Amino acid sequence: MVERRLPIIVGNWKMYKSPAEAVAYVHELLPLVKSASAKIYLAVPFTAISSVAEAAKGSNLQIGAQNMHDASEGAFTGEIAARMLGEAGASFVVLGHSERRRLFGETNDFINRKVLKALSEHLQPILCIGETLEEREAGRTADILHQQLKECLAGVSAENAPNLLIAYEPVWAIGTEKAAMPELAQQIHQECLDWLKEQLQLEPIILYGGSVNPANGRSLLEQPAIGGLLVGGASLSPTTFSEIINTAPNEPEE
Ligand code: PEP
Repeated sequence: MVERRLPIIVGNWKMYKSPAEAVAYVHELLPLVKSASAKIYLAVPFTAISSVAEAAKGSNLQIGAQNMHDASEGAFTGEIAARMLGEAGASFVVLGHSERRRLFGETNDFINRKVLKALSEHLQPILCIGETLEEREAGRTADILHQQLKECLAGVSAENAPNLLIAYEPVWAIGTEKAAMPELAQQIHQECLDWLKEQLQLEPIILYGGSVNPANGRSLLEQPAIGGLLVGGASLSPTTFSEIINTAPNEPEE
């Protein structure tokens, strides 16, 4: 029997849930996913990291952050450093989400510095990439994704990033209820995997994100190049999120 790699399913809560609401959510989620065939990650607001990490202790949940600064510390009012996240209980960090790029002007270069910093502080980075609708319609998807990968992953190698995760999140699919068709996502993931191997000698897991829900989760996870899911809106309810998690096929592959 060949051992199957468990899919990674990440919930991105964005700017929702106070620490008390977050803990109540975890208590509700845990019994619903105790026999899940997936690794479960929750990217929570900074203020909820330590209480959620405590509530999730000993469970199959990993807790992480949605952003960080690339400096170790300093005069950066309102920012947060990798070491602070780790000490609060985060084991991973989402970087370069399209909302950060679009609303807060984050560039590939800045995101690259964050990726390198996260790695040096032993936080697992989840690097988000994705094209806009305009870029897709102009036939520029592959070029945009390659450029994001090249610039955001400068200085990253298989040696210093053995656990790197990438999330392909087409911007036109985020929060729009228009998920990419599984076949299209598969094609793009495979293309990125091939490019990463050839150009950067990297073989990361690539998650799909963008309007994932309980109805489309399984067909996305069935695609061989899709190593998991990044779920925004549908992760806010523990019931809905558990339904997505439990779509992960639990029969071992022969
Ligand atoms: C996201 O926040 O990364 C995301 C994919 O959102 P949604 O699932 O709501 O489209």
